[in-house]
Order: sequence, then C-alpha cells, then structure tokens
Amino acid sequence: MPVTAVFFDLDDTLLDDTISSERSAALAASELAADRGVDADDLATAYMETAMDFWEHLKPKAPKPAPGALRPALWRKALKAKGIDDPALAKRLAQRYDAIRLERVELFPETLPVLSQLHGRYKMAIITNGFAETHEEKIARLGLKRFFDAVILAGEMELAKPDPEIFRHAMERLNVTPGESVMVGDRFERDITGAHAAGMRAVWVNVRHERPPEGARPPEATIGSIAELPPVLGRLG
Ligand SMILES: [Mg+2]
Repeated sequence: MPVTAVFFDLDDTLLDDTISSERSAALAASELAADRGVDADDLATAYMETAMDFWEHLKPKAPKPAPGALRPALWRKALKAKGIDDPALAKRLAQRYDAIRLERVELFPETLPVLSQLHGRYKMAIITNGFAETHEEKIARLGLKRFFDAVILAGEMELAKPDPEIFRHAMERLNVTPGESVMVGDRFERDITGAHAAGMRAVWVNVRHERPPEGARPPEATIGSIAELPPVLGRLG
C-alpha cells in the first residue's frame, strides 16, 4: 500500500536532544551549584541519569507529576544522589536548565530541508513522549508546527510510546490506516516496536549506531539520519 502518512518522533530524531540536554545541565550546574561542594559535571551527569531513568520507565497511565513539578523533582533527585537535599536549589536549577535548553535547542541541519520536501506530499504528525510543559514551547520555538497536521504529546494523553494506542490515536487524527502509515524514530522499543504493534511500518533513525534488540522484528528501513528519509519513503511505496 502506498505511504500517505509519516509520523515522527521528536527528540533525537528531528533535533539533537541528548547533546543539548547534557550541555545545558552542565552549564546550569556550574552556574548555580559550583559553590555547594559538588563538581558541576558530576551533578550534570547525575541529572542526565535521573532524567533518562524517568523517561525510560515512564509508564502509560502512570500518575504524572503536576505541571512545572517534573524538572525540579528530577534535579532534586540528582542533588540527593550527590548528598545535597535542597528543594529550593533544585527549583532554581530546573528553571535555569529549561531556559538554557530553550535558548540552545536546534534542529538537526537536515531536518527543515527534509520536512519541506515531504510537506504536501504526505500527511505528517509528531508523536512524542514529551509533556506539554517541556515540549510545547520547544516545538513552537523551532517553527515545526507548520509542517504537521497534528502534534501528539504523550503527557497529555495518559498514553506513551510504545503503547500501540498512542499510534492508533495519531492515525485517527490524520484519518489514515496502519497500512498507509510509517513511523520514523530513534528509539527501537518505543518507536519501532510500538509502531509495529499498531500495524504501521517503521523507519529506524539509528543515530547512536545501536544494535537492534535480539529477536526483535526489524524495521522496514534503517537510516543514519533524517536526511536519508525521502528516498526511503519512496521505496516503501
Ligand atoms: Mg527520540
């Protein structure tokens, strides 16, 4: 069946989230916590690990932190891991980190040309496990909205990838069937396995040069960056 709809993950698929997060965390830590007897880089690493752990274990339908509470909670946990129990400092770190990140967030250089090329040829949507509080401003600031027919934020839906339900919801929003839909993302379990479970085809953007999990159904295509996507979509039909 010809592809008529393309669904994109956001972080590390359309923009370099990992590097910008690490740098922002290190900068916030060095500005605000350097006088607390903790090495700024160590604290930033603890923050990255805490955040990664949170996003990796994010369960669909699990209770979500109150708006604005997520980042301070993650920083508080990171501080505690370094022996500092200071909720006020956690809050300041969270605010500064968010501000720096927003200033610095950038799309991969190939993202806009590729989206421009695909725009009008396919229906397109973003499916991200992000929360409104962390992702809405980012999407707006990057000027991404104009390319997409829908932006689906897991945090607003009580659903998260890889739950096939979020992919089904996204297809409903675009009024397309699984057979004509392709998911594009960097996380194998969340993006590829999840899309397959919803009956979609999937393109893996393997930015970290990972091996696919043992025994997993392979994606219909694997690419090293989003730049390779247009011809791949052409081949998929
Ligand atoms: Mg991602």
